[in-house]
Amino acid sequence: MPAKVDMDKIVSLCKRRGLIFPSSEIYGGLASCWDYGPMGVELKRNVRDAWWKSIVHERDDVVGLDTSIMMHPGVWAASGHIDSFTDPLVECKSCHLRWRADAIEGKRCPKCDGELTEPRMFNLMFKTSMGPVEEEASTIYLRPETAQGIFVNFDNVITTSRKKLPLGIAQIGKSFRNEITTGNFIFRTREFEHMELEYFVKPGTDEEWLDYWVKERFDWYVKLGIRKENLRLRQHGKDELAHYARDCYDIDYLFPMGWSELEGIANRGDFDLIQHAKHSGKDLGYYDAEAGEKYVPYVIEPSAGVDRSVLAFLIDAYDEEEIEGEKRTVLHLHRSLAPIKVAVLPLSRNEKLTPLAKEVFNKLCPSFVTDYDDSQSIGRRYRRQDEIGTPFCVTIDFESLEDKQVTIRERDSLAQIRVPIEELGKILGAKLKGEAFDASALWATRQK
Ligand code: ATP
Repeated sequence: MPAKVDMDKIVSLCKRRGLIFPSSEIYGGLASCWDYGPMGVELKRNVRDAWWKSIVHERDDVVGLDTSIMMHPGVWAASGHIDSFTDPLVECKSCHLRWRADAIEGKRCPKCDGELTEPRMFNLMFKTSMGPVEEEASTIYLRPETAQGIFVNFDNVITTSRKKLPLGIAQIGKSFRNEITTGNFIFRTREFEHMELEYFVKPGTDEEWLDYWVKERFDWYVKLGIRKENLRLRQHGKDELAHYARDCYDIDYLFPMGWSELEGIANRGDFDLIQHAKHSGKDLGYYDAEAGEKYVPYVIEPSAGVDRSVLAFLIDAYDEEEIEGEKRTVLHLHRSLAPIKVAVLPLSRNEKLTPLAKEVFNKLCPSFVTDYDDSQSIGRRYRRQDEIGTPFCVTIDFESLEDKQVTIRERDSLAQIRVPIEELGKILGAKLKGEAFDASALWATRQK
Protein backbone atom coordinates (compact mmCIF):
# COMPACT_ATOMS: atom_id res chain seq x y z
CA MET A 1 0.00 0.00 0.00
CA PRO A 2 1.70 3.25 -1.06
CA ALA A 3 1.77 6.23 1.30
CA LYS A 4 -0.72 8.82 0.17
CA VAL A 5 1.63 11.78 -0.02
CA ASP A 6 4.76 12.24 -2.07
CA MET A 7 7.85 13.76 -0.52
CA ASP A 8 7.77 16.83 -2.81
CA LYS A 9 4.54 17.98 -1.20
CA ILE A 10 6.05 17.71 2.28
CA VAL A 11 9.23 19.54 1.23
CA SER A 12 7.19 22.30 -0.37
CA LEU A 13 4.87 22.70 2.64
CA CYS A 14 7.89 22.82 4.96
CA LYS A 15 9.47 25.60 2.90
CA ARG A 16 6.23 27.56 2.45
CA ARG A 17 5.27 27.52 6.11
CA GLY A 18 8.65 28.02 7.75
CA LEU A 19 9.16 24.48 8.99
CA ILE A 20 12.35 23.41 7.20
CA PHE A 21 14.64 25.25 4.73
CA PRO A 22 17.64 24.02 2.70
CA SER A 23 20.79 24.91 4.61
CA SER A 24 22.90 27.84 3.34
CA GLU A 25 20.23 28.36 0.69
CA ILE A 26 21.46 31.77 -0.50
CA TYR A 27 24.76 30.06 -1.44
CA GLY A 28 22.98 27.32 -3.36
CA GLY A 29 22.55 25.00 -0.37
CA LEU A 30 24.75 22.25 1.07
CA ALA A 31 23.89 18.68 0.14
CA SER A 32 21.70 16.93 2.68
CA CYS A 33 21.84 19.75 5.24
CA TRP A 34 18.62 21.39 6.42
CA ASP A 35 17.67 24.24 8.74
CA TYR A 36 14.61 24.27 10.96
CA GLY A 37 12.56 27.48 10.63
CA PRO A 38 10.33 29.16 13.23
CA MET A 39 7.65 26.44 13.02
CA GLY A 40 10.12 23.58 12.55
CA VAL A 41 12.10 24.46 15.64
CA GLU A 42 8.91 24.23 17.74
CA LEU A 43 7.89 20.91 16.17
CA LYS A 44 11.36 19.45 16.68
CA ARG A 45 11.45 20.63 20.29
CA ASN A 46 8.03 19.05 20.90
CA VAL A 47 9.22 15.70 19.50
CA ARG A 48 12.29 15.82 21.77
CA ASP A 49 10.16 16.82 24.77
CA ALA A 50 7.63 14.05 24.13
CA TRP A 51 10.47 11.49 24.03
CA TRP A 52 12.15 12.88 27.16
CA LYS A 53 8.84 12.98 29.04
CA SER A 54 8.00 9.36 28.26
CA ILE A 55 11.55 8.01 28.69
CA VAL A 56 12.88 10.08 31.60
CA HIS A 57 10.25 12.13 33.44
CA GLU A 58 7.44 9.59 33.57
CA ARG A 59 9.67 6.81 34.95
CA ASP A 60 11.84 6.36 38.03
CA ASP A 61 14.27 3.92 36.40
CA VAL A 62 15.80 6.30 33.82
CA VAL A 63 17.99 9.36 34.26
CA GLY A 64 19.22 11.87 31.70
CA LEU A 65 22.69 12.87 30.51
CA ASP A 66 24.25 15.38 28.11
CA THR A 67 27.78 14.48 27.00
CA SER A 68 30.17 16.22 24.64
CA ILE A 69 30.20 15.62 20.90
CA MET A 70 34.01 15.38 20.80
CA MET A 71 35.39 12.54 22.86
CA HIS A 72 38.76 10.91 23.52
CA PRO A 73 39.73 8.97 20.34
CA GLY A 74 40.29 5.88 22.50
CA VAL A 75 36.50 5.69 22.89
CA TRP A 76 36.05 4.95 19.19
CA ALA A 77 38.87 2.39 19.12
CA ALA A 78 37.23 0.57 22.04
CA SER A 79 33.70 0.77 20.65
CA GLY A 80 34.79 -0.73 17.33
CA HIS A 81 33.80 2.33 15.30
CA ILE A 82 37.30 2.93 13.91
CA ASP A 83 37.49 -0.62 12.55
CA SER A 84 33.89 -1.51 11.86
CA PHE A 85 31.69 1.56 11.41
CA THR A 86 31.88 1.26 7.66
CA ASP A 87 29.67 0.91 4.61
CA PRO A 88 30.76 -0.79 1.36
CA LEU A 89 31.39 1.95 -1.23
CA VAL A 90 31.45 1.50 -4.99
CA GLU A 91 32.18 4.18 -7.58
CA CYS A 92 30.95 4.38 -11.17
CA LYS A 93 33.90 4.33 -13.58
CA SER A 94 31.99 6.53 -16.07
CA CYS A 95 30.09 9.23 -14.11
CA HIS A 96 32.09 8.84 -10.86
CA LEU A 97 29.00 8.85 -8.66
CA ARG A 98 29.48 6.90 -5.45
CA TRP A 99 26.98 4.39 -4.11
CA ARG A 100 26.48 2.21 -1.06
CA ALA A 101 26.98 -1.26 -2.54
CA ASP A 102 24.38 -2.83 -0.25
CA ALA A 103 21.76 -0.20 -1.14
CA ILE A 104 21.71 -0.70 -4.91
CA GLU A 105 20.45 -3.57 -6.99
CA GLY A 106 22.62 -5.21 -9.63
CA LYS A 107 26.25 -4.55 -10.51
CA ARG A 108 25.90 -1.44 -12.73
CA CYS A 109 25.60 2.27 -11.88
CA PRO A 110 21.91 3.12 -11.21
CA LYS A 111 22.43 6.54 -12.85
CA CYS A 112 24.26 5.78 -16.14
CA ASP A 113 24.57 1.97 -16.16
CA GLY A 114 28.36 2.35 -16.10
CA GLU A 115 30.74 -0.23 -14.66
CA LEU A 116 31.29 -0.06 -10.89
CA THR A 117 34.56 -0.45 -8.97
CA GLU A 118 35.00 -3.29 -6.49
CA PRO A 119 33.48 -2.36 -3.09
CA ARG A 120 35.83 -0.88 -0.50
CA MET A 121 34.93 -0.28 3.12
CA PHE A 122 34.37 3.42 3.83
CA ASN A 123 34.41 4.69 7.43
CA LEU A 124 31.45 6.91 8.21
CA MET A 125 33.03 8.94 11.01
CA PHE A 126 33.95 12.57 10.38
CA LYS A 127 37.56 13.26 11.33
CA THR A 128 38.88 16.59 12.53
CA SER A 129 41.85 17.76 14.55
CA MET A 130 41.81 19.25 17.99
CA GLY A 131 44.08 22.15 18.86
CA PRO A 132 46.27 24.23 16.55
CA VAL A 133 48.66 21.44 15.45
CA GLU A 134 47.45 19.18 12.66
CA GLU A 135 49.12 15.90 13.42
CA GLU A 136 47.97 12.34 13.89
CA ALA A 137 48.03 12.69 17.70
CA SER A 138 45.40 15.41 17.58
CA THR A 139 42.94 13.55 15.33
CA ILE A 140 39.50 13.29 16.86
CA TYR A 141 36.09 12.25 15.54
CA LEU A 142 32.64 13.78 15.64
CA ARG A 143 30.47 11.23 17.44
CA PRO A 144 28.39 9.03 15.13
CA GLU A 145 26.08 8.10 18.04
CA THR A 146 25.43 9.50 21.49
CA ALA A 147 25.53 6.06 23.11
CA GLN A 148 29.28 6.01 23.79
CA GLY A 149 29.00 9.16 25.95
CA ILE A 150 26.61 7.15 28.10
CA PHE A 151 28.82 4.03 28.36
CA VAL A 152 31.90 5.98 29.42
CA ASN A 153 29.83 7.70 32.12
CA PHE A 154 28.16 4.51 33.36
CA ASP A 155 30.24 4.42 36.56
CA ASN A 156 29.76 8.16 37.23
CA VAL A 157 25.99 7.83 36.97
CA ILE A 158 25.72 4.59 38.99
CA THR A 159 27.80 5.97 41.85
CA THR A 160 26.05 9.35 42.00
CA SER A 161 22.41 8.55 41.22
CA ARG A 162 21.83 6.06 44.09
CA LYS A 163 19.77 3.94 41.66
CA LYS A 164 19.76 0.17 41.25
CA LEU A 165 19.59 -1.89 38.10
CA PRO A 166 17.64 -2.06 35.87
CA LEU A 167 18.62 1.53 35.15
CA GLY A 168 18.39 3.53 31.96
CA ILE A 169 20.49 6.51 30.91
CA ALA A 170 19.00 8.70 28.20
CA GLN A 171 20.54 11.31 25.97
CA ILE A 172 19.43 13.55 23.10
CA GLY A 173 22.04 15.25 20.95
CA LYS A 174 23.68 15.73 17.58
CA SER A 175 25.42 12.87 15.77
CA PHE A 176 27.42 12.98 12.56
CA ARG A 177 27.85 10.33 9.86
CA ASN A 178 29.58 10.83 6.56
CA GLU A 179 26.86 8.84 4.79
CA ILE A 180 27.70 7.72 1.24
CA THR A 181 24.18 8.32 0.02
CA THR A 182 21.89 10.81 1.66
CA GLY A 183 18.54 12.09 0.53
CA ASN A 184 14.81 11.77 0.94
CA PHE A 185 14.73 15.19 2.62
CA ILE A 186 15.60 14.87 6.33
CA PHE A 187 15.39 11.04 6.29
CA ARG A 188 19.14 10.50 5.98
CA THR A 189 21.50 13.42 6.54
CA ARG A 190 25.13 13.73 7.59
CA GLU A 191 24.29 15.78 10.68
CA PHE A 192 21.24 14.69 12.67
CA GLU A 193 19.91 14.43 16.17
CA HIS A 194 19.75 11.18 18.08
CA MET A 195 17.43 10.21 20.95
CA GLU A 196 19.09 7.25 22.64
CA LEU A 197 18.37 5.22 25.73
CA GLU A 198 20.88 2.74 27.14
CA TYR A 199 18.93 0.49 29.53
CA PHE A 200 21.29 -1.54 31.75
CA VAL A 201 19.93 -4.88 32.97
CA LYS A 202 21.04 -8.07 34.65
CA PRO A 203 22.30 -10.63 32.08
CA GLY A 204 19.62 -13.24 31.55
CA THR A 205 16.81 -10.67 31.76
CA ASP A 206 17.90 -8.95 28.54
CA GLU A 207 15.56 -10.76 26.13
CA GLU A 208 12.56 -9.88 28.24
CA TRP A 209 13.63 -6.24 28.41
CA LEU A 210 14.22 -6.14 24.65
CA ASP A 211 10.60 -7.25 24.10
CA TYR A 212 9.44 -4.66 26.61
CA TRP A 213 11.24 -1.76 24.92
CA VAL A 214 10.20 -2.79 21.43
CA LYS A 215 6.57 -2.61 22.55
CA GLU A 216 7.05 0.66 24.51
CA ARG A 217 8.66 2.41 21.57
CA PHE A 218 6.13 1.13 19.03
CA ASP A 219 3.29 2.38 21.26
CA TRP A 220 4.96 5.80 21.64
CA TYR A 221 4.55 6.52 17.93
CA VAL A 222 0.95 5.30 17.96
CA LYS A 223 0.12 7.41 21.03
CA LEU A 224 1.44 10.44 19.20
CA GLY A 225 -0.86 9.87 16.26
CA ILE A 226 1.00 7.67 13.78
CA ARG A 227 -1.41 5.19 12.23
CA LYS A 228 -0.66 1.60 13.21
CA GLU A 229 -1.01 0.39 9.63
CA ASN A 230 1.93 2.64 8.64
CA LEU A 231 4.23 1.01 11.22
CA ARG A 232 5.75 -2.46 11.29
CA LEU A 233 8.34 -4.39 13.27
CA ARG A 234 11.22 -6.15 11.61
CA GLN A 235 13.76 -8.40 13.32
CA HIS A 236 17.30 -8.22 11.91
CA GLY A 237 18.69 -11.34 10.28
CA LYS A 238 21.92 -12.70 11.82
CA ASP A 239 23.96 -11.44 8.83
CA GLU A 240 22.55 -7.93 9.25
CA LEU A 241 23.37 -7.37 12.93
CA ALA A 242 25.81 -4.57 13.80
CA HIS A 243 29.15 -5.63 15.26
CA TYR A 244 27.96 -5.03 18.83
CA ALA A 245 24.43 -6.46 18.63
CA ARG A 246 23.09 -9.82 19.87
CA ASP A 247 19.60 -9.09 18.54
CA CYS A 248 17.85 -6.09 16.99
CA TYR A 249 14.42 -4.94 15.85
CA ASP A 250 13.61 -2.06 13.56
CA ILE A 251 10.42 -0.09 13.81
CA ASP A 252 9.77 0.67 10.15
CA TYR A 253 7.50 3.40 8.84
CA LEU A 254 5.83 3.48 5.44
CA PHE A 255 7.65 6.54 4.05
CA PRO A 256 6.78 7.75 0.52
CA MET A 257 9.83 5.83 -0.80
CA GLY A 258 8.64 2.62 0.90
CA TRP A 259 9.10 0.86 4.25
CA SER A 260 12.22 2.24 5.95
CA GLU A 261 13.74 2.24 9.41
CA LEU A 262 12.34 4.77 11.84
CA GLU A 263 14.03 3.45 14.99
CA GLY A 264 16.26 0.55 15.96
CA ILE A 265 16.05 -1.34 19.27
CA ALA A 266 19.14 -3.43 19.88
CA ASN A 267 20.36 -5.85 22.52
CA ARG A 268 23.99 -4.73 22.80
CA GLY A 269 24.82 -7.33 25.45
CA ASP A 270 27.89 -6.43 27.51
CA PHE A 271 29.96 -5.54 24.44
CA ASP A 272 30.45 -1.84 25.16
CA LEU A 273 31.14 -1.97 28.91
CA ILE A 274 33.60 -4.86 28.44
CA GLN A 275 35.39 -3.01 25.64
CA HIS A 276 35.67 0.24 27.61
CA ALA A 277 36.82 -1.60 30.72
CA LYS A 278 39.51 -3.32 28.64
CA HIS A 279 40.72 -0.17 26.87
CA SER A 280 40.48 2.29 29.78
CA GLY A 281 41.61 -0.04 32.57
CA LYS A 282 38.60 1.02 34.67
CA ASP A 283 36.40 -1.66 36.24
CA LEU A 284 32.89 -1.21 34.83
CA GLY A 285 31.26 -4.10 36.67
CA TYR A 286 28.18 -3.61 38.84
CA TYR A 287 27.70 -4.99 42.33
CA ASP A 288 24.14 -6.22 42.70
CA ALA A 289 23.52 -6.02 46.44
CA GLU A 290 20.21 -7.90 46.28
CA ALA A 291 21.67 -10.86 44.38
CA GLY A 292 25.00 -10.56 46.26
CA GLU A 293 26.99 -10.81 43.03
CA LYS A 294 28.98 -8.68 40.65
CA TYR A 295 28.44 -8.69 36.89
CA VAL A 296 28.82 -6.59 33.77
CA PRO A 297 25.29 -5.45 32.82
CA TYR A 298 23.72 -6.08 29.45
CA VAL A 299 22.29 -3.14 27.56
CA ILE A 300 19.04 -2.68 25.63
CA GLU A 301 19.22 0.33 23.32
CA PRO A 302 16.23 2.04 21.71
CA SER A 303 17.84 4.49 19.28
CA ALA A 304 15.74 6.96 17.29
CA GLY A 305 16.37 10.01 15.15
CA VAL A 306 14.65 13.29 16.01
CA ASP A 307 14.68 14.41 12.39
CA ARG A 308 13.45 11.10 11.02
CA SER A 309 10.65 11.10 13.60
CA VAL A 310 9.73 14.67 12.62
CA LEU A 311 9.48 13.49 9.01
CA ALA A 312 7.27 10.53 9.90
CA PHE A 313 4.98 12.71 12.03
CA LEU A 314 4.68 15.25 9.20
CA ILE A 315 3.92 12.63 6.56
CA ASP A 316 1.37 10.84 8.71
CA ALA A 317 -0.38 14.09 9.65
CA TYR A 318 -0.54 15.47 6.10
CA ASP A 319 -3.93 15.55 4.44
CA GLU A 320 -5.72 17.31 1.62
CA GLU A 321 -9.44 17.66 2.15
CA GLU A 322 -12.36 19.13 0.30
CA ILE A 323 -14.50 21.36 2.52
CA GLU A 324 -17.62 22.85 0.92
CA GLY A 325 -16.06 22.73 -2.52
CA GLU A 326 -12.74 24.22 -1.36
CA LYS A 327 -9.49 22.32 -0.98
CA ARG A 328 -7.61 22.61 2.28
CA THR A 329 -4.23 21.19 3.23
CA VAL A 330 -4.06 20.27 6.87
CA LEU A 331 -1.57 18.72 9.28
CA HIS A 332 -3.51 16.59 11.76
CA LEU A 333 -0.56 16.72 14.16
CA HIS A 334 -1.06 15.44 17.70
CA ARG A 335 -1.79 18.44 19.90
CA SER A 336 1.40 17.91 21.93
CA LEU A 337 3.50 18.08 18.73
CA ALA A 338 1.78 21.00 16.98
CA PRO A 339 4.21 23.96 16.77
CA ILE A 340 1.47 26.48 17.66
CA LYS A 341 -1.31 25.46 20.05
CA VAL A 342 -3.63 28.44 19.67
CA ALA A 343 -3.96 31.19 17.07
CA VAL A 344 -5.69 34.42 18.04
CA LEU A 345 -7.40 35.88 14.99
CA PRO A 346 -9.39 39.12 15.11
CA LEU A 347 -12.01 39.07 12.37
CA SER A 348 -10.28 42.01 10.73
CA ARG A 349 -7.60 44.57 11.50
CA ASN A 350 -10.26 46.96 12.74
CA GLU A 351 -9.03 49.36 15.43
CA LYS A 352 -11.99 48.49 17.63
CA LEU A 353 -11.15 44.77 17.60
CA THR A 354 -7.38 45.03 18.06
CA PRO A 355 -7.27 45.93 21.81
CA LEU A 356 -9.54 43.05 22.82
CA ALA A 357 -7.70 40.61 20.51
CA LYS A 358 -4.34 41.67 22.00
CA GLU A 359 -5.79 41.29 25.48
CA VAL A 360 -6.84 37.72 24.65
CA PHE A 361 -3.40 36.98 23.17
CA ASN A 362 -1.60 38.35 26.25
CA LYS A 363 -3.81 36.23 28.48
CA LEU A 364 -3.10 33.01 26.59
CA CYS A 365 0.57 33.22 25.66
CA PRO A 366 2.07 32.54 29.12
CA SER A 367 0.24 29.18 29.15
CA PHE A 368 0.21 28.08 25.48
CA VAL A 369 2.41 28.70 22.45
CA THR A 370 0.12 31.25 20.83
CA ASP A 371 0.23 33.02 17.49
CA TYR A 372 -1.39 36.38 16.73
CA ASP A 373 -2.37 37.05 13.14
CA ASP A 374 -4.53 39.86 11.79
CA SER A 375 -3.33 40.01 8.19
CA GLN A 376 -5.44 38.99 5.16
CA SER A 377 -8.91 37.43 5.17
CA ILE A 378 -10.00 35.18 8.00
CA GLY A 379 -10.34 32.26 5.55
CA ARG A 380 -6.71 32.55 4.44
CA ARG A 381 -5.56 32.77 8.05
CA TYR A 382 -7.49 29.61 8.95
CA ARG A 383 -5.83 27.85 6.02
CA ARG A 384 -2.39 28.99 7.14
CA GLN A 385 -3.00 27.64 10.66
CA ASP A 386 -4.38 24.37 9.24
CA GLU A 387 -1.19 23.92 7.19
CA ILE A 388 1.02 24.14 10.27
CA GLY A 389 -1.35 21.99 12.31
CA THR A 390 -2.61 24.54 14.88
CA PRO A 391 -5.31 22.66 16.82
CA PHE A 392 -7.32 25.73 17.89
CA CYS A 393 -8.09 29.15 16.42
CA VAL A 394 -9.78 31.79 18.55
CA THR A 395 -11.74 34.40 16.60
CA ILE A 396 -12.69 37.78 17.98
CA ASP A 397 -15.58 39.52 16.20
CA PHE A 398 -17.68 42.64 16.78
CA GLU A 399 -20.11 40.74 18.96
CA SER A 400 -17.17 39.88 21.23
CA LEU A 401 -16.92 43.57 22.15
CA GLU A 402 -20.47 43.40 23.52
CA ASP A 403 -20.77 39.94 25.03
CA LYS A 404 -17.10 39.27 25.91
CA GLN A 405 -17.30 35.91 24.14
CA VAL A 406 -15.09 34.50 21.42
CA THR A 407 -15.29 31.58 18.99
CA ILE A 408 -13.01 28.54 19.23
CA ARG A 409 -12.58 26.66 15.95
CA GLU A 410 -11.24 23.13 16.03
CA ARG A 411 -8.77 22.16 13.30
CA ASP A 412 -9.94 18.59 12.69
CA SER A 413 -13.71 18.67 13.14
CA LEU A 414 -14.03 22.35 12.12
CA ALA A 415 -16.57 22.57 14.95
CA GLN A 416 -16.98 26.03 16.45
CA ILE A 417 -18.06 26.88 19.96
CA ARG A 418 -18.57 30.27 21.48
CA VAL A 419 -17.17 30.72 24.96
CA PRO A 420 -16.72 33.54 27.49
CA ILE A 421 -13.21 35.06 27.40
CA GLU A 422 -13.01 34.45 31.14
CA GLU A 423 -13.29 30.69 30.59
CA LEU A 424 -11.06 30.54 27.51
CA GLY A 425 -7.80 29.56 29.24
CA LYS A 426 -9.47 26.81 31.22
CA ILE A 427 -11.28 25.39 28.19
CA LEU A 428 -8.22 25.43 25.92
CA GLY A 429 -6.12 23.90 28.73
CA ALA A 430 -8.56 21.00 29.03
CA LYS A 431 -8.79 20.51 25.27
CA LEU A 432 -5.02 20.57 24.84
CA LYS A 433 -4.71 17.88 27.49
CA GLY A 434 -7.19 15.82 25.47
CA GLU A 435 -9.92 16.08 28.11
CA ALA A 436 -13.49 16.11 26.88
CA PHE A 437 -15.14 19.45 27.45
CA ASP A 438 -18.88 19.80 27.73
CA ALA A 439 -19.76 23.15 26.19
CA SER A 440 -23.52 22.90 26.63
CA ALA A 441 -23.50 25.14 29.67
CA LEU A 442 -21.74 27.83 27.67
CA TRP A 443 -24.24 27.66 24.84
CA ALA A 444 -26.92 28.17 27.46
CA THR A 445 -25.10 31.29 28.68
CA ARG A 446 -25.15 32.66 25.17
CA GLN A 447 -28.82 32.02 24.59
CA LYS A 448 -29.87 33.78 27.78
P1 ATP B 1 20.21 3.53 8.38
O1 ATP B 1 20.41 2.07 8.06
O2 ATP B 1 18.83 4.04 8.01
O3 ATP B 1 21.29 4.42 7.91
P2 ATP B 1 21.17 2.83 10.96
O4 ATP B 1 20.60 1.47 11.12
O5 ATP B 1 22.58 3.03 10.64
O6 ATP B 1 20.24 3.66 9.95
P3 ATP B 1 21.12 3.40 13.73
O7 ATP B 1 22.55 3.42 13.94
O8 ATP B 1 20.32 2.23 14.19
O9 ATP B 1 20.79 3.69 12.21
O10 ATP B 1 20.50 4.74 14.33
C1 ATP B 1 19.27 4.78 14.98
C2 ATP B 1 18.33 5.79 14.40
O11 ATP B 1 19.00 7.04 14.19
C3 ATP B 1 17.78 5.44 13.02
O12 ATP B 1 16.67 4.57 13.14
C4 ATP B 1 17.37 6.80 12.51
O13 ATP B 1 16.14 7.21 13.05
C5 ATP B 1 18.47 7.70 13.06
N1 ATP B 1 19.53 7.89 12.05
C6 ATP B 1 20.61 7.13 11.82
N2 ATP B 1 21.36 7.64 10.83
C7 ATP B 1 20.73 8.75 10.42
C8 ATP B 1 21.02 9.72 9.41
N3 ATP B 1 22.11 9.66 8.66
N4 ATP B 1 20.15 10.76 9.25
C9 ATP B 1 19.04 10.85 10.02
N5 ATP B 1 18.73 9.97 11.00
C10 ATP B 1 19.55 8.93 11.19
